[in-house]
Amino acid sequence: LSERLSGVFDRLTKQGALSEDDVKTALREVRVALLEADVSLPVARDFIARVQEKATGQAVTKSVTPGQQVVKIVHDALVATLTGDEDPGKLKIDNPPAPMLMVGLQGGGKTTTTAKLAKRLKERDGKRVLMASLDIYRPAAMEQLAVLGAQIGVDTLPIVAGQKPVDIARRAKQQATMGGYDVYMLDTAGRLQIDEVLMQEVADVAAVTSPRETLLVVDGLTGQVAVEVAQEFDAKIGISGVVLTRMDSDGRGGAALSMRAVTGKPIRFVGLGEKMDALETFEPERIAGRILGMGDIVALVEKAQDTIEAEQAERMMKRFQKGQFNMNDLKMQLEQMTKMGGMESIMGMMPGMGKMAKQVQDAGFDDKIIRQQVALIQSMTKKERANPQILQASRKKRIARGAGLEVSDLNKLLKMHRQMADVMKKMGKMGKGGMFKQAMK
Ligand code: GDP
Ligand code: MG
Repeated sequence: LSERLSGVFDRLTKQGALSEDDVKTALREVRVALLEADVSLPVARDFIARVQEKATGQAVTKSVTPGQQVVKIVHDALVATLTGDEDPGKLKIDNPPAPMLMVGLQGGGKTTTTAKLAKRLKERDGKRVLMASLDIYRPAAMEQLAVLGAQIGVDTLPIVAGQKPVDIARRAKQQATMGGYDVYMLDTAGRLQIDEVLMQEVADVAAVTSPRETLLVVDGLTGQVAVEVAQEFDAKIGISGVVLTRMDSDGRGGAALSMRAVTGKPIRFVGLGEKMDALETFEPERIAGRILGMGDIVALVEKAQDTIEAEQAERMMKRFQKGQFNMNDLKMQLEQMTKMGGMESIMGMMPGMGKMAKQVQDAGFDDKIIRQQVALIQSMTKKERANPQILQASRKKRIARGAGLEVSDLNKLLKMHRQMADVMKKMGKMGKGGMFKQAMK
């Protein structure tokens, strides 16, 4: 049975692998999709090259065509590129009063976004927010912010005629400190194009307030222009994140990808309309789907993958209940664990594994070690995987060498396998394994 099981997987990785041609053909279409979505040419080119390298040789999920598989790989790569380490919705606004600077070109949506964000901070995070307009050029600009403030119930700094932006910023800081505000937001003036005077003005304001967050607000429909603006602002002022506005329009939002790829700055929010609650936390999945415009295919492949995973899990369960647990099972477990956020969390969920989870943690178990262990198992023959008992010194040496590791590493793996096999046996005896199923999902 185990022989047959491993056979299935060998076939999956050998015959069902994506050829270079498969990948190239599919990526040609993807490239068109990206460019149509307004992803800049160099970014699209670079992205495609990376995916091409990554995709070639990858397994094709059963019941899915190579082309579909590539689309799914592209989608995942898009999501990965768009996802940063940071949580987009979480702004650095501790230590009150935290200054937030809103910058960007005129008409990009700064004032609207300032108010939308103030409303969100007030309602979701319970923050006391003060907004101040530094736009001394357009007569109605300050009034616009005051009107929005009144509408959403957020205070605005009283307007004093004749002050320079830096003076207004100082006044805002003072008022925020004295008034016990958590955050004060500075809505700066924009220009139709980037110019030195604007940059200097914003830089001066940043110098007197040391903003905790400097958010660039750009029209998501302007594609390449938006990216250039972001580069410019980041170089001169330093931005901490981006808000893409007008994402409620038809555009496919390729600017998001270019922006992230070129500046490396996180996209934090997207504007989805003129209303005060039309602001959402940036969701990489959603934007990736939109950029690629092939959501149906992605969903199809995901469904096929889920089905296969469920089948695998089912098969494994049956084996565990019979007390069977060989190296193929361990490999699958390890791979699934990396996918589900690491060994510890999974083991913590399994009954009887809590103690082992602790050992695992103490042993400094991480993704790197899991990868090494998978490499060790891959370096075993089919027979060895099915019957790890047959591993003698010479076999061990060969396996370790094949994985570029030491025999001691292999011994650790074997010990872990024995421990796990023990637990599996006990759990198998416990019967149903319902808990286990839960832990695997
Ligand atoms: P600012 O010059 O950068 O301060 O831009 P404003 O905040 O005054 O916005 C300019 C125009 O864009 C206004 O009419 C806003 O209502 C509109 N606007 C801002 N954000 C969005 C958005 O996400 N979607 C749509 N459809 N319109 C927006
Ligand atoms: Mg404005």
